Amino acid sequence: MSAGTPAALDERLRRIGEHLGTYRVGVADMTAPAVQAAVREHGGSWLAAFPRAVSLAFRLQDAIVDQLPRHHRSPAVARTYSFHIYSSVNDYLDEMALHVARAIQEEGHAAVPVPASLPVDADGFSGALSHKLAANLAGLGWIGRSCLLVAPKVGPRLRLVTVLTDAPLATDAPLDRDCGSCTECVEACPAGAFSGKAFDPAEPRSARMDVQACADYREAAKAVSGVTICGVCVAVCPHGRRSRRAATLPA
Ligand code: SF4
Ligand code: SF4
Repeated sequence: MSAGTPAALDERLRRIGEHLGTYRVGVADMTAPAVQAAVREHGGSWLAAFPRAVSLAFRLQDAIVDQLPRHHRSPAVARTYSFHIYSSVNDYLDEMALHVARAIQEEGHAAVPVPASLPVDADGFSGALSHKLAANLAGLGWIGRSCLLVAPKVGPRLRLVTVLTDAPLATDAPLDRDCGSCTECVEACPAGAFSGKAFDPAEPRSARMDVQACADYREAAKAVSGVTICGVCVAVCPHGRRSRRAATLPA
């Protein structure tokens, strides 16, 4: 494999991902008009012009996620999860993205590491880019009824970050998977925030999720734990609990 070729850069990025302990790395084709429009909505034409997205996933700690159904009774659970995802994992994801972006730039291409968690809209619900959209297009998983990215073996027990680039990387294909008949997150959500509708890229998120109901519930939970944490939808997804319930789950 010749240095400086797209294949060499692709291999270099996958080695970086492996070295950093990334759970999965994939490359998304971002050139479809609907995808560009979705990126443009919050990220603007600047970010929508990038044709590729490198999606990186970091796996959360099961021992913490498993406790989330007790978040409203245990400040220790809520605070530990809050620190895990919003401090240590998000910071680490941003560091991973920086390594990937640096490697791409060293090969002579443009790259923007999109922050793992940085709202850019006035209500604080949306980042410059949906990391879930990039991960879905990069073949890391599907968008579940919970509006979370669901990966085959770990479910939504992941956090994501994205590097947009013009590097001519080989792209991965989206997975041909979905939630099937499962509705566990819909039934478990204490805020009743999910409509139960399956993901449809043609519909807005509001067709599937009442984000304000989720935010209101988590704000109320803050009275107990001091942090706006729930995460029941992350904990209950059977794809993340597969290792514990392998005998009772369909393949
Ligand atoms: S975090 Fe909790 S309240 Fe919000 S959608 Fe998930 S289960 Fe519902
Ligand atoms: S709990 Fe079931 S419906 Fe919800 S995201 Fe996971 S697989 Fe999909």
